Amino acid sequence: MNVNQLGARGEALLSALGREYYLTGAGRKATPAFEAIYEQYADLQSDEALACARGARVPALVEWVVDLRVGRAVAPYEERQLVWERRARIAVSGRDIPYLRAAIELQNSPDRAWRIALDRARAAAGATDLNELRRDRFLRERETVAAAGFGADYPAAITAVSGIDLEHLAGQADRLLADTADLYREGLRHLVRRRLGVPPDQLVRADTGWAFRADEFDAAFPGDQLLGTGTAQMREMGLDAFVGGRVRVDAEEREGKQPRAFCVPVRVPDEVYLVLRPHGGHADYRTFWHELGHAMHFGSVDRDRSFVDRWLGDMSVTEAFAMLWDHLTLEEGWLQRFTELGRESGAVSRIAQLRVELAVSELYLLRRYAGKLRYELELHRSEYGAAMGERYAERLTAATGFRFLEEDHLRDVDPGFYVARYLRAWQLEGTLAQILTERYERDWYRNPRAGGFVQDLMRRGQAEPADRLAAEFSAAPLSFDASVSRLAAVLA
Ligand SMILES: [Zn+2]
Repeated sequence: MNVNQLGARGEALLSALGREYYLTGAGRKATPAFEAIYEQYADLQSDEALACARGARVPALVEWVVDLRVGRAVAPYEERQLVWERRARIAVSGRDIPYLRAAIELQNSPDRAWRIALDRARAAAGATDLNELRRDRFLRERETVAAAGFGADYPAAITAVSGIDLEHLAGQADRLLADTADLYREGLRHLVRRRLGVPPDQLVRADTGWAFRADEFDAAFPGDQLLGTGTAQMREMGLDAFVGGRVRVDAEEREGKQPRAFCVPVRVPDEVYLVLRPHGGHADYRTFWHELGHAMHFGSVDRDRSFVDRWLGDMSVTEAFAMLWDHLTLEEGWLQRFTELGRESGAVSRIAQLRVELAVSELYLLRRYAGKLRYELELHRSEYGAAMGERYAERLTAATGFRFLEEDHLRDVDPGFYVARYLRAWQLEGTLAQILTERYERDWYRNPRAGGFVQDLMRRGQAEPADRLAAEFSAAPLSFDASVSRLAAVLA
């Protein structure tokens, strides 16, 4: 096998997996055949494939072959988890709720006693079988990475494979937690007093969804205007949201379709699906702009770039482009121009109130991820036992001000330190938004010159990792500074 064959086979595999993911997620097909697809491409998981990637000295290619081996090794656990989650039900206060519905109920219920009972029952349901599955899964993943020759210390192995210095990033995350502690505490205190009427020291995880729900603003974000607003806003920047038909929108109502919007590339850049079921509300808009960001990024990559540049690389980069667009929904001028809020009487104070709520919610998220990275470094050096539950609850509670539940210590972990990609995406996106504002003013999202600048970056796919891409337009190394000062400006 040579590197060209590896790339050609790899592209065929990713295309087949993408199509399967699209068909099942969009409700066009009942059960996915991922196992069978992996089977057809078993050669890509071989030692020969790994040696070929190593010989080519392309780190993103080595990382991808390791990921494939992990994906194959953990597939049985993932499938069993999926089956468990689909079957599990929660009995609470005389009601019987499907396990997978709990998150939506928590988000939309103003009844605090019910939320707390539901969240406890949800966590308890997963405490044995689900956690056992997750533990076996993580052990298997660690073994697979070690067997590929990267050592038994999983965080060190992922640092080597991904090129992301996890300890360095965790140090930055620790500083972020310290630097924003007062800002967050004050912002949260006000928001919680108004929305929940609960003393800050009694907050629990079950409160987060409703605290940040911003339900009073739903009417300003109508579902039927979502697509039109996205198209119009990109046009003002001189961009085509659907990149000349490369991005295909699937907005039809269909049974079995996932409720949450998602983006999946099937051929990069020519066939990228953006699947959605517009419901309306701020969170729905924000999710749409996020997924549109991924879709435009994949759809904008130059066709003649290599397989590695088009499909692989540092996922922090595509997450940063997704965040660049989804953070627009937090901007004053954007809310004024592109939502119904701008047409309301008292628009200025309503927008100001929404922005404060969104900024606290954003800081909650950022701090949650910062707390998670430290916890996950510790978790992946442990035996994934129940003792880690206490560490999880301590770290997450300290970071967010809401009491987290010990039983979630394995469920709430994205494999492969994906948490690091999100944190780096916040860093890259904060820097990029700052540069755009400096060069093209606050309303850069209406400026075709800013559109051209972003377009030129998107054309490169993920050829450069986040740190090298940022170095091209900023002298400072990647940090949380820009993200934090943006939030401080709203909350101060
Ligand atoms: Zn994303």
